[in-house]
Amino acid sequence: MYLESWKGSEYSLLEKFGLKQIRLNLPFRLNHVNCFLAEGENGWKIIDTGLHNQETMERWKKELAGKEVTDIILTHYHPDHFGYAGALQKKTGAHVWMSETDEKNGKLSWEKEAIEGLEQNYRQAGVPEDISKRMKNNTMEFIPRVTPYPTVNHYLQEKETLVLGNNEYEIFSAPGHSDGMVVFYNRENNLLLSADQILPKITPNISYWFHGDPNPLKSYLNSLDRLSELDAEIVVPSHGRPFYGANDRIREIQAHHDDRLNVTLELLNEGGTVYDVCQKMFRKTLTVHETRFAIGETLAHLEYLRYQGECKREMSEKGYIYHR
Ligand SMILES: [Zn+2]
Repeated sequence: MYLESWKGSEYSLLEKFGLKQIRLNLPFRLNHVNCFLAEGENGWKIIDTGLHNQETMERWKKELAGKEVTDIILTHYHPDHFGYAGALQKKTGAHVWMSETDEKNGKLSWEKEAIEGLEQNYRQAGVPEDISKRMKNNTMEFIPRVTPYPTVNHYLQEKETLVLGNNEYEIFSAPGHSDGMVVFYNRENNLLLSADQILPKITPNISYWFHGDPNPLKSYLNSLDRLSELDAEIVVPSHGRPFYGANDRIREIQAHHDDRLNVTLELLNEGGTVYDVCQKMFRKTLTVHETRFAIGETLAHLEYLRYQGECKREMSEKGYIYHR
């Protein structure tokens, strides 16, 4: 349920916690990301930065006019959160904070070596040659949106605390959506800054990206279980509006993945490549960018089932075939 009093004025309620939400536009179906500004003792802290593009630059320029930025805190390495961090650090001299794992991911995912392997990976997932090429090229288009990379000055670590605005927050690792994602929890107000771990309307994308955690869906579901122990009352997500009741939403997301896993398993009666299963699972027409996420998500579900011993994977001329 959305906070009644936040209708039209969610910003004023966040103000109580000393947080200002900066909603940046994104040129995707998921059309925005929420970043935050918080005043500290010596200047301002920014939580997530948006993509490195013209619109983001202009928006931050306006928001930060007359403000000294001391810290840039990144929840995870995905381009809509991490992309502008390096350029903004260059402009402001701010210290950058993120997890060590996602620093590695951020500095590896758009490098030549990782991108060159992608086409081959997509071919092994059964994606036709021309689409594999376009998916690789789509990844390359992100390079200017995520560079220059930031210099990370501090690693965010589980159990440490951080003051953001008026309150102190505990750092929790919540791997799954990215291997090194962190969320911030304020016990006093039972408030969770949930990053992309718990979102109100869409389910967070859980993808295998051909590097890192081999079973991200398992990690994600484990993170949900852990966070449900907090029973957070107020959730402030990185996409969508703040809402009440973390655990109600956690249960919905768990049910979604249970459904998805069942559907995937059923599709495996016939067997097929990742691409075959993906096409049956996502019936609407997808852009190349969306296909990358759909393949990643399908693969995460298939690999979860494989690690559970519920399906097998074999190499064939068409790439890997999954079957029961
Ligand atoms: Zn995001």
